[in-house]
Amino acid sequence: MAKKITLKDLSNEPGCLAEYDPNAMQIESAKKLINSFIKPIKEAEYTKLIDSLNRVLAVDLVSPINVPNYDNSAMDGFGFNISSLKNTKKLMVKNTVLAGKPIKFSVKGGEAIQIMTGGKIPIGVDTVIPIELVKYKNNEITFIEMPKIGANIRKSGEDIKKKDIVLSKGTLLYPAELGLIASLGFSKIKVFKKLKVGIFSTGDEIVKTGTKIKSGQVYDSNHFTIHSMLCRLNVECLDLGLIPDNKIIIKNTLLKLSKKADVIITSGGVSVGAADYMKEVLKEIGQVLFWKLSIKPGKPMAYGKINKADFFGLPGNPVSAMVTFYQIVQGSLKMRMGLKIDDSIPLLKVECVESIFKRPGRTEFQRGILFQSNKTWKVKTTGQQGSAILSSMSKANCFIVLSADRGAIKAGEIVDIQLMASFI
Ligand code: AMP
Ligand code: MG
Repeated sequence: MAKKITLKDLSNEPGCLAEYDPNAMQIESAKKLINSFIKPIKEAEYTKLIDSLNRVLAVDLVSPINVPNYDNSAMDGFGFNISSLKNTKKLMVKNTVLAGKPIKFSVKGGEAIQIMTGGKIPIGVDTVIPIELVKYKNNEITFIEMPKIGANIRKSGEDIKKKDIVLSKGTLLYPAELGLIASLGFSKIKVFKKLKVGIFSTGDEIVKTGTKIKSGQVYDSNHFTIHSMLCRLNVECLDLGLIPDNKIIIKNTLLKLSKKADVIITSGGVSVGAADYMKEVLKEIGQVLFWKLSIKPGKPMAYGKINKADFFGLPGNPVSAMVTFYQIVQGSLKMRMGLKIDDSIPLLKVECVESIFKRPGRTEFQRGILFQSNKTWKVKTTGQQGSAILSSMSKANCFIVLSADRGAIKAGEIVDIQLMASFI
């Protein structure tokens, strides 16, 4: 078997891997490579179930009980034994069963009981008929139609059997999962610890919001987009704000963060600008790969490790930073969080109502608006697609994904889209 390429080998000698071209990385190769270096978190803790939304289950969850744990009625109606209906369409109603109330009787042939939804099925009953399907008068029911044996009875264990694995390790806990876990009686569960993600922006032209801006300066919007995308992933942010383009400060900040954080994400300074010290510093203190991705927007990107922390260097341009985060970083972070997932985002096919200029070579993620016209869903672009035009992200509800091999799009052609709602 071929020797596994390490991050160190690759960062020292980018030519050591066949088909690896740091100057034209296809998105799929970049994702595959990063994910091969990601080690999912192992540390786990118990949390109260009520506080476990968006956490990742750290164990296979085994059911201690049958669900439901007793045979019960799925309807408000009448219970009886099907053999009682051999020679008659009428039965006398002798008793009533309410949900949650004990029953001290059994049901004999020729008799029925009234039973409420969730009521425990008494001995002798094998079938329930809904109240709407009988005539009920003077304690007697007359069948309008004949039921099948076993109808409208929820059998013990029909949803979940005792000792079944109900949820597997690595499941992201959404409302349905929390309800499911509650239905087994657990009030606490074992989840992976939240990832600690250190973030900061760089760039001497970048200024904090809330201050007066001078010509030549740019407000730090990446701080807010990256911070909030991370909040939605339910990680713990170690937020360092803005760090100036100063080699020593950047170096010390990264080293300090790498001891506290599982992951470090920065924006800016990973391309070839004269003051892009990130690159210089990272070469000294980490094992980092610098790529020109074959995607638009979002060309420069870095991935590597500083001590044990994974490092993602996002491009400075605001749209590029978001696209790179969504399309590449988010899937890797989910893996790092312990999630077992297929991180491919569904592609849907819709008609594009306008022409789009494109040259083959790069995968493009154009900002799109999915809209309804004559009861069919169609897509158009948000207009200007520059990598600094953040308003295009805000106007968009989807990405129009144009694969690397594709050229210009004519109006009326079918394109792939990803709903932005698919991104956390
Ligand atoms: P860089 O990747 O550092 O070369 O930056 C590329 C472009 O993104 C420049 O025009 C920067 O001004 C802009 N930029 C970098 N960081 C940020 C940020 N935190 N917020 C908004 N724009 C930024
Ligand atoms: Mg810069």
